[in-house]
Amino acid sequence: MAAREVRIIFAQVLERVRTLDPANARRWFDQLAILNFDGGSLAVGCPDQAQVQYLQDHCREVFTRAAQQITGHLVVVDFCLATAPSRLASAAESPVVGPRLHPDYTFENFVVGPSNRLAHASCVAVSQSLGNTYNPLFLYGSSGLGKTHLLHAVCHYVRQAALGVTVELLSCEEFVNRFILAIEEGNMAGFQAQFRGVDLLVIDDVQFLSDREHSQEEFFHTFNALYNNGKQIILSSDSPPAEIPSVEARLVSRFNWGLVARIDPPSFETRVAILQKKADLRGVEISDEVAEYVARYVQANIRELEGALTTIYAMSVTERQPISRALSQRALEGQIRLASKNIAIADIINVVRRHFNVRLADLQGKRRSQSITEPRQICMYMARALTKHSLEEIGGHLGGRDHTTVMHACAKIADAAAADPKMKALLDELTKQITQAVQS
Ligand code: ADP
Ligand code: MG
Repeated sequence: MAAREVRIIFAQVLERVRTLDPANARRWFDQLAILNFDGGSLAVGCPDQAQVQYLQDHCREVFTRAAQQITGHLVVVDFCLATAPSRLASAAESPVVGPRLHPDYTFENFVVGPSNRLAHASCVAVSQSLGNTYNPLFLYGSSGLGKTHLLHAVCHYVRQAALGVTVELLSCEEFVNRFILAIEEGNMAGFQAQFRGVDLLVIDDVQFLSDREHSQEEFFHTFNALYNNGKQIILSSDSPPAEIPSVEARLVSRFNWGLVARIDPPSFETRVAILQKKADLRGVEISDEVAEYVARYVQANIRELEGALTTIYAMSVTERQPISRALSQRALEGQIRLASKNIAIADIINVVRRHFNVRLADLQGKRRSQSITEPRQICMYMARALTKHSLEEIGGHLGGRDHTTVMHACAKIADAAAADPKMKALLDELTKQITQAVQS
């Protein structure tokens, strides 16, 4: 087959991949080169090892499917490292240099804002001078706020900037598993050599050490060996050192020796910027209006923010519509309907109760003051909107009220929402909180 023809086929395959799997498609797919296509097998070359791994981990199936759809034949797809045309190495043969890194998780792709400024700056500082600035560097924050991203970014940086530096990056769970395996195989010497000989040790989610005394002991010795040799240690956790349950005091104290940096949930502006960045990585354009809508919609967790973007993008691809505010709204509200399968009336009551700061006994009781009736009616309305329960069942959860009372409440709140944007906003906010409470 002529080279030009092969290139055209490959361009079609890439386009098909983007529509089949919008969540995993990336802008850099444009840089992929077709190395060889002999009808039955397709070799795809990537400029970077992390990209090879990403494609192997997330995209093998979709590339195979796309290639089969485009060519009409069974095609086996292989991803290879191809730094220069003359130096090809199949990913399977070439030794994996250092840890597996996610190609998205670089400093370049990390949006800095007030919530993560210190964590970001300390990671940059440490990358530029291993072992000499903050040691250990300890990052903590809730799930989905960018800890793993920053740890990978340090490793990307070091891999590119400092040749010959040895790096280990792994989750704490992996560390513990390898430790257990080493004991089983009677190969503690190998285990120790692997971790005590590196220039940079990065361990993600060290809260996993909680209650694992034997692993803590080993980790303690690993830590000391590296620290005493001036080697860099970076750790992450979902809570500050002293609040990780059941970790021995001597480890907690060491975690605090260097710098402890907290990551907070991002502000609205940072969320908008992150969405723009994530869209750009996928080669997708989103308007400020859409980014702002989504950033208001998802607040606490960046992983979910990204999930929302993926949902919207997927809908725009399947419907062949541009990403508008209206489409985004439809995509995200569809998610709510999906989530609502699992919503119980008790979840609704909990969220409403917390919002209005009223007691369950009052919601279920006889009092008819406005401060109680309104939350009670909102509970009924939301239960009607978000669950499949009957009017009787809903009344039953709220102090045994009959179905006409529930019907009246629903009508009243619906009217209020139609007349008053504040009420509409409140209902939207409560809906969001309820679905999030159910999903988490
Ligand atoms: P954690 O390890 O804290 O649970 P991750 O590092 O896995 O969180 O981040 C979850 C997702 O959010 C990842 O896709 C990551 O790229 C993204 N993310 C988090 N913070 C940022 C940021 N400041 N800029 C860009 N992406 C971010
Ligand atoms: Mg993580």
